[in-house]
Amino acid sequence: MKLVSGQLPWENTIPNPPEYPVLEGDITCDCLIVGGGMGGAMMSYRMSLSGADTVLIEKRKVGTGSTHANTGLLQIANDKSLTSCMNTFGEENGVLFYRLCQQAMKRILELPGKLDIDPQIIERSSLLYASVPEDVAMLKLEHENLNKHGFHSEFWEEADIRAHYAFSKPAALYSKGDAETNPLRTVHSLIHKAHAGGVRVYEHTEALHYEYNEDGVICHTANGRIYAKNVVFAMGYETQEMKKDRGAELINTYAIMTEPLPSLPKWHEQSLLWETARPYLYFRTTPEGRIIAGGKDEQLTSVERREVRVLSQGERLMEELTALFPELQGTKAEFSWGAVFGSTHDGLPYMGPHPEYPHCYFIEGYGGNGTCYSMIAAELLADTLAGKTRPELELFSLTRSAKPTPSPAIQP
Ligand SMILES: Cc1cc2nc3c(=O)[nH]c(=O)nc-3n(C[C@H](O)[C@H](O)[C@H](O)COP(=O)(O)OP(=O)(O)OC[C@H]3O[C@@H](n4cnc5c(N)ncnc54)[C@H](O)[C@@H]3O)c2cc1C
Repeated sequence: MKLVSGQLPWENTIPNPPEYPVLEGDITCDCLIVGGGMGGAMMSYRMSLSGADTVLIEKRKVGTGSTHANTGLLQIANDKSLTSCMNTFGEENGVLFYRLCQQAMKRILELPGKLDIDPQIIERSSLLYASVPEDVAMLKLEHENLNKHGFHSEFWEEADIRAHYAFSKPAALYSKGDAETNPLRTVHSLIHKAHAGGVRVYEHTEALHYEYNEDGVICHTANGRIYAKNVVFAMGYETQEMKKDRGAELINTYAIMTEPLPSLPKWHEQSLLWETARPYLYFRTTPEGRIIAGGKDEQLTSVERREVRVLSQGERLMEELTALFPELQGTKAEFSWGAVFGSTHDGLPYMGPHPEYPHCYFIEGYGGNGTCYSMIAAELLADTLAGKTRPELELFSLTRSAKPTPSPAIQP
């Protein structure tokens, strides 16, 4: 599957990225991770902390799947609001999901001091603004639910927004505890650290097919086999080529990154900006004084059509950016790209075991918060592989139906 089109922004932001060999020959391990994107990176890092005998294989180069297109917004709040999660999954499970995201964000914010390559994770506030006046009541209710359950949220009126930003909107929720990152650097820094901690890493090594046995899985690659007691599939949207997820949908999404600006417009705390409309637009700044804008989702098309659409969708994103910040008129997009993007019908990612694949676990970070979900998955699956029970996995079950499930207890 061709995951990305256009010019990607992160390519040259990590000079001399670490490189890993191609697998030659047969090897054994306790845990094989297939995929060196955000999911595989988080998992390999977490496994290295417990000293587990782990191998990671990546068919391309590390970080060049859809992580390469990731715009690097790291948030507790989701595409699906807390209110909507509570309505769909019940209050306890809705809150549990948000609590897991909050814990994952805390762990993500602790990463920089622990890694040798700077992942450029910077703590940021977020502003979720009402796209139209009709959405204000929804935001008020969301604010009440967030506060009631201990999540930080401030309800901002139009005047508050005008005092902090160059634009005006009918209302917004301001929150703390989110972050921005350079996703390619994050993936490299995690895998680099995992490798230093004993995880064996192979690039340009594709898992071609598998034999599922009683005591483990044999993974066949072009030049060798891997005998693994357990496998974690972190293959991103390409997992659908192996196992169709009926509850998931793939679309095209687009993003731009501007040239560095002499100065940023009035933009409180360089917060992450997004809106209540669905599909939504989102905006962030970078440490080099650039702006990233994303959105303009549309139906999955042929790769050829997506390549053509990158330019025109990029222009439309630039128009949205200048509508918000008119002083940016004339600014150029230095990078424009499009990519496959996946979401689930009920708004939750998939993670955990699947009854048809013994000794196998999946990380499928569907949705706009794939990085946060990858951290949740790494934590829950590493514990599971170490023999701990993590009932929270029920929430993300690969075979779940849309109806509310009984609440699993959260662990500290
Ligand atoms: C335009 C865009 C913007 C986004 N913005 C954000 C954002 O701001 N914040 C956020 O949190 N998320 C964002 N996401 C979502 C995020 O990118 C993904 O959820 C996440 O990066 C995916 O990581 P992954 O490891 O699951 O997949 P990938 O990065 O695709 O990694 C999977 C890897 O598996 C490898 N692989 C596949 N099959 C095999 C095989 N058979 N053998 C070996 N290797 C294999 C692939 O080569 C690939 O490198 C965005 C996505 C897009 C497309």
